[in-house]
Amino acid sequence: MTGTAHTEALERELAAQFGVRHAVAVASGTAALHTALAALDLGPGDDVLVPALSVVMSVAPVIHAGARPIFVDCTPDGTDFDHDDLATKITAATRAILPVHLWGRVGDSVRLLRLARRYGVDVVEDACQAQGTQVGGRHAGTFGTIGCFSMKDGKVLWSGEGGYLLTDRDDLYAYARSFRSHHQPPYPGVRATRPGHNYRLAEPLAAVARANLARFDALLARRRRQAGLLRELLSGTPGIEVVDVSAEQQWNGYSLLASVTLPAPRAFCEHLARQGVPNSVGTFRLVPADRQPVFAGLPTTPCRNAAAVVDRTLAVVLNDHDHDGRLDRYAKTIIREARRWHRPC
Ligand SMILES: *Cc1c(COP(=O)(O)O)cnc(C)c1O
Repeated sequence: MTGTAHTEALERELAAQFGVRHAVAVASGTAALHTALAALDLGPGDDVLVPALSVVMSVAPVIHAGARPIFVDCTPDGTDFDHDDLATKITAATRAILPVHLWGRVGDSVRLLRLARRYGVDVVEDACQAQGTQVGGRHAGTFGTIGCFSMKDGKVLWSGEGGYLLTDRDDLYAYARSFRSHHQPPYPGVRATRPGHNYRLAEPLAAVARANLARFDALLARRRRQAGLLRELLSGTPGIEVVDVSAEQQWNGYSLLASVTLPAPRAFCEHLARQGVPNSVGTFRLVPADRQPVFAGLPTTPCRNAAAVVDRTLAVVLNDHDHDGRLDRYAKTIIREARRWHRPC
């Protein structure tokens, strides 16, 4: 398959699906974030505020763009930025805030946008995990200046590998298209550009993405049903408190989320992964971004809430292919192991 017919059609369909002017398809969510930051001309001397409650893929693109990530703590329940911490970290060097909608949940976007406007900084959303989450009739990833998405296997809308960004701004759209393909075609504006990348989405993957986008509502309903089923099966399990997502948002059900109140919750999540229940901490060794060894050189203050939230959160990894039998097995394993974990051996 050659040409760009599927990619261009996918972009039109994504823009229509999410109710924005433009979509730019790229090779990954990481590429979408890097492209977004480059389009905003962020680089050396610029700070980007990022939540500590995030993943390496959210923060690495800031460094790839040449800017500096500044970690911000979350509220004790992990549902939003700690706005006191955010306020102290905004300086004259701050050019953007990059909220990460981890596990598909979004914070208070009205409050964040008000703050961003007051300081004249852009909001770039990492909505890679939040496809389909809506607040007040608007999709996650359409609140800020640019929203970034991944279509890696396991995200709600997937094409195996892939990503896209959404924006209403014509100039950012034109720059992103140019940057994604080594500035061929060249950016029509006057800005002296930095070298581009090969961040093109492969045509066969664009075709897969289009087929899945056509059944986006079904994919989303399936994910919500999966999270709901696990939630139901696990309710009342001692030591596993299912986390409710605020009814104000139509959450996409990205993961089953539970707060582990057993002793040594991290060790419990790691144990569950070994027992065949994939989860953020146990399978991916999730730690807050400010504690990732690759970011050790960055200035940071301890983000204690983020660490506490990560350490106690059981986020069960869900996938389009997970049928009810597998989810039932996950639930049985979690319940059995939680009971055993209570008893001293
Ligand atoms: C998946 C993901 C990314 C990166 O997407 P890739 O397509 O793997 O590059 C970035 N941020 C978050 C929150 C993600 O879940």
